[in-house]
Order: sequence, then structure tokens, then C-alpha cells
Amino acid sequence: LRKKKQDHTEILKRLLQGNQTALGKAITLVESNTIKHQQQASAIIEGAIASSGKSIRIGITGVPGVGKSTFIEAFGTYLLSLGKKVAVLAVDPSSSISKGSILGDKTRMENLVKQEMAFIRPSPSGDSLGGVARKTRESIMLCEATGFDVILIETVGVGQSETTVHSMCDFFLLLKLAGAGDELQGIKRGIMEMADAIVINKADGENVKAANTAKLDFRRALHLYPPKESGWTPKVLLSSALYNTGIPEVWELIMSFEKNSKENGYFEENRKQQNKFWLLQSINEQLKQSFYQNPEIKVALEEQLQAIFDKKTSPFIAAQQLLEKYSKL
Ligand code: GDP
Repeated sequence: LRKKKQDHTEILKRLLQGNQTALGKAITLVESNTIKHQQQASAIIEGAIASSGKSIRIGITGVPGVGKSTFIEAFGTYLLSLGKKVAVLAVDPSSSISKGSILGDKTRMENLVKQEMAFIRPSPSGDSLGGVARKTRESIMLCEATGFDVILIETVGVGQSETTVHSMCDFFLLLKLAGAGDELQGIKRGIMEMADAIVINKADGENVKAANTAKLDFRRALHLYPPKESGWTPKVLLSSALYNTGIPEVWELIMSFEKNSKENGYFEENRKQQNKFWLLQSINEQLKQSFYQNPEIKVALEEQLQAIFDKKTSPFIAAQQLLEKYSKL
């Protein structure tokens, strides 16, 4: 036990000195599902939390094939040239099924992965989006404590995962293609509403004209949404991740968002609200788990279910009685 204690104390110490190997080890502990590892991870996080928070957290979403990996490669490389330290994390709840994430795939970020000032971590495989989200949230803090000042969080633009990523980042970027309808791109309306910027990628070669048209269309569409709490008007930009154009403009836009939202107080307020959301979310999940896994509740639940089937009680009354029973355990 003593050795383990020294181990994680050592990991924390080296992590705070900016050591990436230690960061990798700490994230592995965060991602582990064994109780021992989780305790070690908690101790590291407690020690790291005071040094976290000093970054800009950027969510990047878009359907498969839109160019997320290529964009992150180009954008990340540009940020490194500005002297930034860039961490790339991914949220992909399907990775537990496919046994390996297509997001944050190192082979698709060839240049970035070779750079000392970049850290790339594929999606943790969790049993649920909630599990993956917790692990990613904690990994963000660990990256920050290691000194990474730009955190890119990549997710696929389908399902619930964008909403999850939106609630852990400061700036949310939606990658789109010109010429494909929303249905084709599998993007739900709600995602457009969350975006702080839409970047139309693959604006190169024969695509340029269509991209410019799409830019106007999206700009018009964005005007139909209610104003954002941040006071920020979402912008539409063009990029070619492949030919490396439009990349500095995306960073300038994010910088101007950061400046605005820090001046009007939204930046800090949003992070506070996000912390509150994750606190309540964690409580909900843990309460649910402890309720449903309780052996006495399991038996009582079966009994109540039978009583409902036999028309001796209603689902509402049964739920009340079960919760009462749980609160007395
Ligand atoms: P992801 O699934 O969203 O991560 O997309 P990828 O980054 O893997 O890109 C999918 C395909 O689109 C690859 O063949 C890329 O080379 C190509 N691609 C990505 N960005 C661009 C771009 O800006 N222009 C063009 N023409 N092709 C691109």
C-alpha cells in the first residue's frame, strides 16, 4: 500500500512539472475501472486541481468524413507554431463496443503525434456516455495541470455526445461540408444552436464556390436562433484542412471569443455552471447506481413490480414506497 501511495505521489509530482509520461499514467488511472486505481486517480486529481483551469477548452464536432482529424492535425500544428501546448482528447461512447476509437486516432494525426508539445489521447472506452464523460472531464483537468494551454475535445456529430462535449468546453466548433443537406450530414438542429462557430471544411478546388454559398446560407440560418447567453454571435468560416487554409482565422476567432467572454464575465460564469452541472450529474448517477444495485431494493423492486401487474398498486405509489425504503436503509 505504501508503495502505491508513493507511486501516485510521484506521478502527481512529475505531472505538475510538465511530464507527459506522468500525465499518460495519471489518465490511465482515471480511465481504469478498478477501485484501487480510482482511489489513486482521485488523489492525483485532488493534488492537481489547483493548477488546472488555465486553458481554453475547444469542442470540435462534425460527422465522420467531414475532416475532424485532418483539421485537428492542421489546427494543432498551427497552434504549436504559436508556442502553444496542445492536448487532443476524444469523446466516443461507441469505442467500448468497437474496441478502439476512431477518434483521436494517432495515425491520422501524423505530424501532431510526433511533436513534443502535443499530447493526443483517444477516447476512453466506458460502458456509458456518462462514464466516458467523467473520464474526459478529469483528463482535461490533468492536461491543464501538466501545462497544456489549448485542449481540443473531438467528438462525432451524431447521438448525445456533442451535448456532453458542449457542457465541458468553452468554445464549440462545428465542422460542416458545403452542398450536403443537414439530413445528409446527420446534424440535428440543436447542434447548430450550440455552435460558437461553423467552419465549412474542404473549401478547396472545385468546392470553393459551393463553400462560399454555404457560408451565406449558414450565416442566414444562424440569425434565426435566439441570441446566446454569452453575448456572442456565432460566425461562419471556411477552411481547407488538407491544404492548410483558413486555419489561423479560426484561432483568431476563438481568441476574440475568449476576450469578449472574459470581459463580460461569461467565461468564468459558464465554467461555474458547468461545474455545477457535472456535480449534480455525478450525484444523480451515483444515487441511481447505489439504488439499483442495493440487494434489498432489488428484491423489493421485483415485489412491487408484481404488485403493479396484479393491480394491487400503481407505478407511482410503488416508486414512492421504494424510495422511502431506500432512504431508511
Ligand atoms: P473525420 O472522420 O471527420 O476525422 O475526417 P478525416 O479527417 O479522416 O477526413 C476524411 C477525408 O477527407 C480524408 O480522406 C481527408 O484527406 C479528407 N479531407 C479532410 N479535410 C479535407 C479538406 O480540407 N479538403 C479536402 N479536399 N479533403 C479533406
